[in-house]
Amino acid sequence: MHKMRDKITEVTTRITNAALSANRNPAEITLLAVSKRQTEQKIAAAHAAGLRDFGENYLQEASTKIKRLQLSDTRWHFIGPIQSNKTRAIAEQFDWVHSVDRLKIAQRLSEQRGQSTPLNLCLQINIDDESNKAGVRPDEAESLALKIAALPNICLRGLMVIPLNPTTAASEDCPFMRTRLLFERLKTLPQLANMDTLSMGMSADIETAIAQGATIVRVGTALFGDRD
Ligand SMILES: *Cc1c(COP(=O)(O)O)cnc(C)c1O
Repeated sequence: MHKMRDKITEVTTRITNAALSANRNPAEITLLAVSKRQTEQKIAAAHAAGLRDFGENYLQEASTKIKRLQLSDTRWHFIGPIQSNKTRAIAEQFDWVHSVDRLKIAQRLSEQRGQSTPLNLCLQINIDDESNKAGVRPDEAESLALKIAALPNICLRGLMVIPLNPTTAASEDCPFMRTRLLFERLKTLPQLANMDTLSMGMSADIETAIAQGATIVRVGTALFGDRD
């Protein structure tokens, strides 16, 4: 418990310092606590210490935790690979999905969202063009984003990336910079002008991501320690 508060302070200090160095308001940046393969005790402690956004990668594990913990005022984010037979449970149990890279998945999430509020969605971009990696290719992002933005029960919020390597310096070819440029270009289209989210940066590269405009950083080990 004590340790959890210290870890949260450490991470929020990193976020605040990175935001201030980039002339950004720290309040624009959400700390998404990635709780996959972490114990319910740790998650409950993080919630008690004030965190309200939690990210999970595996549906079955997540469903159990969500039901057992019953955390008040909490947003659950699905950030893992999505099989089409899992979309109904994801649409029902989560508030956000960061890992959409196919129209079929988005259509199913839209049809199966049986709730009054839309499901917040980010398009996962395969920013380093890796073979066998999840995410839509950057040159295919526009057409997919336009189709998803037109679906009911879905609010397309922005883009998510997992770069090949941790990105600890904003070099010429920084993947976070390429993601920001893509995001800004997509936002010039009227149908996509309301996108407001760049989900990028993990424990090792929070600072670089924030310097490039991240609005959600997804942090696991720096908060919770090593996973089981
Ligand atoms: C596991 C995971 C994270 C967190 O990674 P850490 O290095 O533990 O901070 C962030 N995003 C995604 C998509 C993940 O799968």
